[in-house]
Amino acid sequence: MILPGATLGILGGGQLGRFFVMAARKMGYRVVVLDPEENCPAAQWADQHICANYTDHAALTQLAQACAAITTEFENVPASALDYLAQTRPVCPAATALSVTQDRIREKTFLRENAFDTAPFVAVAQRQDLRAAFAQITPPALMKLSRAGYDGKGQRWVRTLDEAEQAFDELGGKPCVLEAGVAIQTEISVLIARGGDGAVVAYSPSENQHRDGILDIGIVPARISAELADRATQITTRIAALLAYQGVMAVEFFIAQDGKLLVNEIAPRPHNSGHYTLDACVTSQFEQQVRALCGLPLGDTRLLSPAVMVNLLGDLWRAEQAPAWDKVLSHPGAKLHLYGKYYARPGRKMGHFTYLGESVAAILPRVAAIQAALKPE
Ligand code: AMP
Repeated sequence: MILPGATLGILGGGQLGRFFVMAARKMGYRVVVLDPEENCPAAQWADQHICANYTDHAALTQLAQACAAITTEFENVPASALDYLAQTRPVCPAATALSVTQDRIREKTFLRENAFDTAPFVAVAQRQDLRAAFAQITPPALMKLSRAGYDGKGQRWVRTLDEAEQAFDELGGKPCVLEAGVAIQTEISVLIARGGDGAVVAYSPSENQHRDGILDIGIVPARISAELADRATQITTRIAALLAYQGVMAVEFFIAQDGKLLVNEIAPRPHNSGHYTLDACVTSQFEQQVRALCGLPLGDTRLLSPAVMVNLLGDLWRAEQAPAWDKVLSHPGAKLHLYGKYYARPGRKMGHFTYLGESVAAILPRVAAIQAALKPE
């Protein structure tokens, strides 16, 4: 066990890293962040910021020397960086798990090989593959970049082969997944933590509503049957076991109109839809990540209150002018979190708030009223 007083390291200094740093420091750990961006959200709370690229071996060596164990906040760090760190320090999640989840073709192939249901898909490694791929998928379909896409970026809807070719070119001619469009009834995500000993704890699934491909709100408990929630949790647990996973992991699911449960994506880290755990659970997903990394017993995931988490995107800013936060703070049940980002851009996640209340039905209209009040004129 790595106990408080020790120093932990994290690759990536965005909001997920920031919450990890806050949780670890609250517990008495020191934290070093490696991120190429000066003043990144996590660096503002860290004991030390190594401002360098993830491929910089001297910087990685410096991180390893300073830290008892190291984790990452996002899947797009080069798996080679984790491999390098793992030569001298415990690292979780492992590079092998990360390399499956940072590449959609590998991820979806892993899911199919292990008999997990997904939307029908075909890998498109090069332009010549498109005709054969398109013949296998019933349009409308989504062309998704295999690597480095997030928040709906790197994706295009296509209806014809022409459109598919155009989308492939627009996405840079890089490997893609062509995926059949699903008539989605509900989207949910399941968050779990798995310890080094294989012990697993699971949180209450979140019901996720997206806008323009980006998470808008997360509703907990999700308005789904207990049977579906159990099945999704079992699938997530099996995926984690197959990946020999250590740490916090989220799996996003589609519940199709016909009731089918399909795996969409695996996130090898805490997840945006798990932010509600900061305010509504005994143990937040970030404390859980600290516990899993340090070999501590995993914390209680119990939900203390129904909650709705609302993302605050840069679209709410006008000419660098932040919204009037009293519109959130005047609600005693609303918990505001801002990420310390200096520049707002449309689609950029600047913060979130979580509204706690007696029931989801009671919270939702209050949340909608706050969202309407925050919209710039
Ligand atoms: P992703 O980056 O794969 O998580 O996709 C972002 C969002 O796009 C999802 O949360 C869905 O709302 C939507 N989406 C992704 N794939 C599909 C699909 N095959 N059919 C319908 N909607 C999708």
